[in-house]
Amino acid sequence: MTLERIVQKLDELEKEEGKLPELMQFYHRILQIQAGVGDQLEKPSPGLTRETATERLGQGKPLLEASEFIFDWTLFQNTLRGITDVFSEFSHFFDLTPETFREPPLEQLVSRDSIEAWYAGEDLPPTGAISQDIIRELIHAAVRPFLMNYAGALIGFVKQETWRRNYCPVCGGNADFAYLEPENGARWLLCSRCDTEWLFQRLQCPYCQNQDQNDLSFYSDDDEVYRLYVCEKCKHYLKTIDLRKAGSEVEVSLERLLTYELDAQAREYGYLPVG
Ligand SMILES: [Zn+2]
Ligand SMILES: [Zn+2]
Repeated sequence: MTLERIVQKLDELEKEEGKLPELMQFYHRILQIQAGVGDQLEKPSPGLTRETATERLGQGKPLLEASEFIFDWTLFQNTLRGITDVFSEFSHFFDLTPETFREPPLEQLVSRDSIEAWYAGEDLPPTGAISQDIIRELIHAAVRPFLMNYAGALIGFVKQETWRRNYCPVCGGNADFAYLEPENGARWLLCSRCDTEWLFQRLQCPYCQNQDQNDLSFYSDDDEVYRLYVCEKCKHYLKTIDLRKAGSEVEVSLERLLTYELDAQAREYGYLPVG
């Protein structure tokens, strides 16, 4: 689903309800910025032959290497400025003051090196008053439209039946949401960074790859639309929507946000979100 479509859905929801819950207001604002950027981007040419793509995937490597992820730095910085302003406005979510986000110059907050480190899942360069985790969230939100644009150009290379790894075939990111297919209940994971969807085993933890069924279970709500898969080995959880129950009309990428109460529930039970 496009970012624009998600923004529209949230616009409609806001109209119906008068006012969105505060967390959804935050997401709404972030998504408006991301959709605005997405609109300005031209589809990148993948720069990969089918042969190279097949070889990379065969070796378990994601399709987009850090050195090939190229984007307009000025546009990125403007995006980051907009995102940082929204974080500043909702700074109480992060237990920080609005000024903490406004004071440091952007180049100091996020450099090209920090984006590379973020992409590779490595530690970021020192960031001053704002914690690494929050800088990661800023980068995540600002890079997302650029990365999604690449994902759209590369997804055609992925052979779903053969990938089945616990990280994204396009960017190597972790999943933060999943759905069960309406036809046969197969489980698809959603990349937290680029929204790529990929097929994954239902009876395996997508974080530590544990397959011991004694350590894996799920909670579900009364009408069984949502599932919270949990793993006792690594203590992570995965929110999932069952499209056999919910129907295929729902927008999965939006459901990931609307289910924020499931995150709270998971944390209450002692499980961790994906870091
Ligand atoms: Zn991805
Ligand atoms: Zn696990």
